[in-house]
Amino acid sequence: MSIEQGRNNTSANKQLSVNDELLRRKRINKYKKIIIWTCGVLIIIPIIMCIILMVRIHMLENDIDDLLSMKESGEIVAEMDSAGNRYLVLRSDSDNDNNIGQNETVAKTKPTTAAETTIQETTTVAETTTADTYTGKRAYLTFDDGPSVNTEPILEVLNRYQVPATFFVIGKNDDVSMKLYKEIIDRGSYLALHSFTHDYKTIYSSVDSFVNDITRIHDLVLQATGKDVRMFRFPGGSATTTNTVDMKQLIKYLKTNGYKYVDWNVSSEDATGKNISAAEMANIVVSEALSCNHAYILMHDARGKETTVQALPQIIEQLQANGFKFYGVDNSTQPLIQQVKESTVQ
Ligand code: ZN
Repeated sequence: MSIEQGRNNTSANKQLSVNDELLRRKRINKYKKIIIWTCGVLIIIPIIMCIILMVRIHMLENDIDDLLSMKESGEIVAEMDSAGNRYLVLRSDSDNDNNIGQNETVAKTKPTTAAETTIQETTTVAETTTADTYTGKRAYLTFDDGPSVNTEPILEVLNRYQVPATFFVIGKNDDVSMKLYKEIIDRGSYLALHSFTHDYKTIYSSVDSFVNDITRIHDLVLQATGKDVRMFRFPGGSATTTNTVDMKQLIKYLKTNGYKYVDWNVSSEDATGKNISAAEMANIVVSEALSCNHAYILMHDARGKETTVQALPQIIEQLQANGFKFYGVDNSTQPLIQQVKESTVQ
């Protein structure tokens, strides 16, 4: 073998080993990638599963809350089959049909003399609202922001139909208003609190400010009626967003001080500034209420809301025709519609 041939062989061998090295590195990189991807997938999949499970748990907790409140209100009952298995049963619509009859009976027993009217109407309203066994559709007429010049006209309509409403009142200490707080109760309706000032900037500026405001309206109602009222509605609702105070802190205060609060699931649209007729308002309320077993209807008792008063008879008649029975809201009322649920606050 000549020297020239020897040199050629050596460089060919070198070339081969460089190629081998490159192939080896490529293989290593490929394996590295496979290992990294496998590890990544193995980490990400459990994380995704955890997130899905947490969401499912949260949804189930909400379902359990709803079922418990439905059970408390008698919408569902626990039953046992022949094999001894327990299960929950939704009460049938035949209960609603029975109720239409009951409403008619109430209307027919209307007394004749004025004096008797007041006494008997109050009794009838009280009897119908404390009947916890009723499992059909319930309507809660609620009026915010009173008392006002419209409180009397609203009470007149309610007494004509012998149904109660709940008035979420604000703080007014003139003589007429002080009498109206009492009259609401005396005529068979319910009083609840809606803040003293109704000024969002004041109420929601801090927890202390909120406590001060609710204490003022609580004490004013106590002074006017002798009643320790602890049913509340947040101005704007419990889902109101503020930049200054955490609503959950306010809910916590209510919870620890024996207050209950309620929002609404039906709105009469009487606070939107839209110029709608009484018939349109009644249509809005009734069509929204039809999808609810417990319809909490938001209306306003305030100067300038005369359309609400005019719509009220139609609302009551149409709801009655659809099998609704009327109830007031007090601390024993369940389930309460809450946009931010009390159970979510520790
Ligand atoms: Zn209000």
